[in-house]
Amino acid sequence: MPTLKPQPLAGTPLNFAADSGFYAECRRRVQAFFDEHGISPHATLGMYLKTAAILGWFAASYVLLVFVAANWWQGVLLSLSMALAMAGIGFGIQHDANHGAYSRFKIVNRLLGMTLDVLGGSSYVWHWKHNVSHHTYPNLNGADDDLDIRPWGRLAPGQRRMFFHRLQQYYLWPLYGFLLPKWHFVDDALNLTQAKVGGRGFPRPRGLRLAELLGGKALFFGWAFFLPMLFHPWWQVLLFYAGTAAFVGISLSIVFQLAHCVENAEFPHPALIERENRQWAVHQLNTTVNFARRNPILTWYLGGLNFQIEHHLFPRICHVHYPRVSRIVEEVCAQWGLRYNSHASVFSAISSHWRWLRRMGRPPARSTPTSAAQQASPRQCP
Ligand SMILES: [Zn+2]
Repeated sequence: MPTLKPQPLAGTPLNFAADSGFYAECRRRVQAFFDEHGISPHATLGMYLKTAAILGWFAASYVLLVFVAANWWQGVLLSLSMALAMAGIGFGIQHDANHGAYSRFKIVNRLLGMTLDVLGGSSYVWHWKHNVSHHTYPNLNGADDDLDIRPWGRLAPGQRRMFFHRLQQYYLWPLYGFLLPKWHFVDDALNLTQAKVGGRGFPRPRGLRLAELLGGKALFFGWAFFLPMLFHPWWQVLLFYAGTAAFVGISLSIVFQLAHCVENAEFPHPALIERENRQWAVHQLNTTVNFARRNPILTWYLGGLNFQIEHHLFPRICHVHYPRVSRIVEEVCAQWGLRYNSHASVFSAISSHWRWLRRMGRPPARSTPTSAAQQASPRQCP
C-alpha cells in the first residue's frame, strides 16, 4: 500500500510552523483506512469507467456538433453538452492526474494530465499555478494566484478596492465566462513570457515539456478552430467557441470559488502565518470550505471538488475516496478542537460567495477588518 506523503512545501518563503500532531493523526488514520480495506488511494474501477464516460461524452458532443448538427438549436444543445463534458474533464480527470492522484504510475498521470492541454490550457503552467501557488498558499493574498482577478474583482481583504467593486456581486458571475478565453489567449502566454505565477518565478519548460506544451496548443487550436472552419463559416465557429467557453468558464470559476471565496474561509495576512505559528495543515482547514457533501450526483460530476478540505490535505488521493476520507478528517478535527467548514448545499455555498463578494466590494469603513482575531474566529455555515 503506498504511504501517504505530506504536501511538499519546498521553497516556500513563508515558514509554516511544524505540525503539532493534527496532520500526522489525519495521515495515520487515513492510511489505516486504506490499509484496513486493502484499497489503493488511487483510481478505482469506477473512476476508470467515469474517465471513459466523460471523455466519450466530450468526443461524441464534438463530432455531433461539427459534423451532424443541422440547425441552430441542435448546435446550441450540443455546444452545451460539450461544455458540460469539458468542465467534467477539468473537474474530475485532469485535476487528479496533474496532482499525481489518479494513478501510482507517473506515465498514466502524465497522459491524463495532458487532457488539460487538449482543452487549451497548459498542464505545465497549471502545475505551478495550481499545485504550487494555490495549494501551498490558499487565500494568502499575493501568493495564491487564484485570488488575483484584478482589476475586475476584489476577492481578499488585502486587495485594493476600486469604486466599481461595489457592484461585483452582480457583475462578476457573467465575467467568470471570460476565464477560458483569457486562459487560452492571454494567461498561459503571459505566465510563460514572464516565467512567473502568483508573484513567484518558475522554470520555463524545455525539451519534452516544451514540445508537449506547444503540441497541446496546436492540437487545441486545430480541433477548436481550424477543423470546424473547414466545414462552417468562421463567424459561426467563433460564436460557438464563445458560448461554449463562457459556459465552461462560469462552471469552473464558481466551483473553485465556493471552496475558498466564501464567508467561512479565512484570509489571513501572510505576516500572521509566522507570527501566530500557523501550521500548514491548519491553514488549509481554515481557508477551505466543503459543500453539498451528501449529494452523490454533484460529487460524481464535480470530481470531489465539493470536498476541498480533503483535497487540500490529501491532494494525492484520488477524489473517489474523499467522501469516506472526509468522515475521518471531520472526526480528527473534532478531537483537536478545529473547525471543519462545510455548507450543507450548493445553494448555501453560492449564497455565501455572493455575500463575500458584496462584503469585499463595500467601502473600507463597512468592510470586515482583516485582523487575525476576526478572521480566525469560528463562524457557522448558514
Ligand atoms: Zn487541486
